[in-house]
Formats: sequence, structure tokens, C-alpha cells
Amino acid sequence: MDRLLTPDEREHHRRMLTLVLDRWEDQAHTWENGALLPEEVVTWTAEQGLLGAPLPASVGGGGWRAIEAGLLYEALGRVSISLASLVNVHGMMAQTVARWGTPWQRENVMPALGAGKRVAAICMTEPHAGSDLSEITTTLAERGDDLVLNGTKVYITFGQRADDLLVFAQRAGRSEACLVSRDAPGVTVTPMGDMLGLRAAGLARIDFEDCVIAPEAVVGKPDFAVPVLVPTALEHGRHAVAWMALGMLEACFEECARFVRTRRTFGSPLLDHGQIQTLVTRMGADLEAARHLCVAASRAMQDKAPETMRSVLLAKYFVCRVAQEHTASAVQLLASSGISERSVTARAYRDSKVLNIIEGTEQILERTLAPLLVGAAGAVR
Ligand SMILES: Cc1cc2nc3c(=O)[nH]c(=O)nc-3n(C[C@H](O)[C@H](O)[C@H](O)COP(=O)(O)OP(=O)(O)OC[C@H]3O[C@@H](n4cnc5c(N)ncnc54)[C@H](O)[C@@H]3O)c2cc1C
Repeated sequence: MDRLLTPDEREHHRRMLTLVLDRWEDQAHTWENGALLPEEVVTWTAEQGLLGAPLPASVGGGGWRAIEAGLLYEALGRVSISLASLVNVHGMMAQTVARWGTPWQRENVMPALGAGKRVAAICMTEPHAGSDLSEITTTLAERGDDLVLNGTKVYITFGQRADDLLVFAQRAGRSEACLVSRDAPGVTVTPMGDMLGLRAAGLARIDFEDCVIAPEAVVGKPDFAVPVLVPTALEHGRHAVAWMALGMLEACFEECARFVRTRRTFGSPLLDHGQIQTLVTRMGADLEAARHLCVAASRAMQDKAPETMRSVLLAKYFVCRVAQEHTASAVQLLASSGISERSVTARAYRDSKVLNIIEGTEQILERTLAPLLVGAAGAVR
């Protein structure tokens, strides 16, 4: 990784690794049975300025560049995908409001999110609408001077903990999103536990029943939510997920490297056996490619380059896909040592499957990437 970074970025990376690993490295496995990160971890993340770090300084955030945010996600992903997801969903919601919110929202809602005093979640998915958000049935209807929100959202990351929600709905057939406080009358939060991965990410079902919304809580213009707000949120989310998957894979590779050097079978270290060399070479080569794609995505984002969408999609798609393949190899390689709940590899194996579902499934990313890649083929001549 160092070779791809400037001296300042290398220093920032070291700071992130020291900060996150020194504090939490050996504790993540204890969070997995609770369905929600301990409050102490959420408080620490906010107090260290990490929740608001990737948000623009103009709204009270840390103003970190995309590469700095990426290196933070990499460090968090090494320890826990659930912890990395706390910062991610907070950022997805807050970046969207920072970019498209009204002056009132930037002044009244953003400072607490930028400072990490309130935690945010983003509510798009419904029982019958996941990949295809045009199927959303949650409604926002006018009632006197106000609006009322009715509907159900599911699989909301940190829905159990978040204070502020960005909720996507239909208003007279047009897509809109609004800000809702979790404490508002008519909001019911029900924990969703027993997940394959992201076990400490506080997933929730959230029901809205005649929930009164003030008009100033609507974010963006009419028919803006799915075509404009969703891509903004997803660009941040995909960039973050690519980096956290990279961190998770780095941790698995380091675990495998230690093991193949020290574990002996049939008179030699595992590393001397040809099949093991194949496994670790594939893992190491894909890891190197993944680092390049993540750095390229961050640089495109912070330069506002025309290829940003393509770069971010490629990074998310590739890193999550190889993470799924190689976390399975890592468990195979460590064998009985790799399957305990305490092991990094077992948790990564479970989480990697989920990373291929959130922020656009593998198949949905292929729908966009295939025509982009085919369209660009041969364009150099
Ligand atoms: C751990 C976790 C956390 C989540 N956090 C959040 C959150 O914070 N906020 C939120 O709003 N949502 C969240 N989600 C929901 C997530 O975004 C959706 O699960 C995801 O978008 C996929 O939707 P779905 O599960 O309804 O699958 P569906 O859309 O029903 O898709 C089912 C399958 O069909 C495939 N498919 C769909 N359409 C096509 C097509 N046209 N061509 C080929 N294949 C297709 C999909 O790839 C998938 O394999 C979370 C989900 C999980 C598992």
C-alpha cells in the first residue's frame, strides 16, 4: 500500500492503523453476539472525530479527502466490518444532506452529524423493494401544512442506534426523501438479529405510522430522491465498502502469511507446498490489484474526475468479489484454526458475503459495469 501513497498519506494511514488497531484489534469478536456495537465503541468513534471525518468542513465535518477517508475505512475494516459500517451509513446519509439539503438543514441538522453528536442511518430498502427502488411504497402525503409518512423500511444498518434517519418515499407518485428523528411519534424500531454477517451493525426494521413531517424536513426537490440522492449516497457507500473490504482482506492475508510460514505438514512449512503457493499467490495478487483500484477510486472522487462513477463501481465490485473468494480460501488454508468465532478469517468469511449484497449487489453492479466496460473497449484507437 505504501508505494501507492504520498508521504503525508502514508503518515495518515499509519495514524489510522495505530488509532484503530491499538484500541480494538482483539475485541471485535466479542461484539458479534450482541447485534449492536457496544455504546462505548460508538462513543469512542464519535469522540475521535471519525464519524464526521469524511464530511465537508463547511457543515462541521472533518473535511477529509476521499483517500484519507478510504484509509480510515481500511483500518476499520481490518478490525470489524460492523464498526466500519457505522461510519459508512452515517456518512452516506450525512454526505447526501450536506450536498443536497436546504440551507436550513445545513444549519440545523448537519452540525450535530458533523460533530458525531447524533448518529445517522439511511432508509431505502423495503420488504418488496431492494435493488429496484422505483418499487418503494412508503408514502409522504400532505396533511394541512405538514406531511405524514407511512410505510416500512427493513435491514437498516444501525437503525437500532441512529438518532436521525433519511427516509425515501413516494409523494403523489414522485420520489422524495425526508429527515425523521427516531424519537418522533409514529416511528417504531424493531431489531433484526441473527444475520450471517455484519452481526454487530444493529440492523432494524423501522415502521412509520402517520408520522408527522414538517415541510422543511424534505431533502431536495420533487422527484429528486431516487435519481439524485440515491446515487450520491451510493457513491460514498461504495467507496467506503471497497476500502473496508480491502482492510478485511489485508487482515486475512496477514493471518494466512503467519500461518503458512509456521505451520508444518509432511516435514515442511505449508508455504513449501505447491497448492498452498497457488492459494496465497492468487490472494496476494488480487490484494495488490484491489489496493490500486481503491486508491484510483479515491483519487477520482477527490479530483471530481469524469470517471469517478466507473472507478468507484470497479473498486467496489472487484474488491468485494475477490474478498468473497479469498476469505473462503483463508478459512480453507487455516482449516480448524480458521473456523472459530474468535478468528479473523471466520468473521471475514461471513461478512464478505454481505459486502456483495449491500450498496448494490454484485449482479446490479454488473448491469452498469458491463455496458460501460464494453462501450470503452477499443476506444484508444
Ligand atoms: C447487512 C445488510 C445491511 C443493509 N443496510 C441497509 C441500509 O442501511 N439501508 C437500506 O436502505 N438498505 C440496507 N440493506 C438492504 C440492501 O441494500 C438490499 O438488500 C440490497 O439492495 C438488495 O436488495 P434485496 O435484498 O431486496 O434483493 P432483491 O433486489 O430482491 O434481489 C434479489 C436477487 O436478485 C438479483 N437481481 C435483482 N435484480 C436483478 C436484475 N435486474 N438482474 C440480475 N439480477 C438481479 C439481486 O442481485 C439478488 O441476488 C442492507 C442489507 C443487508 C443484508
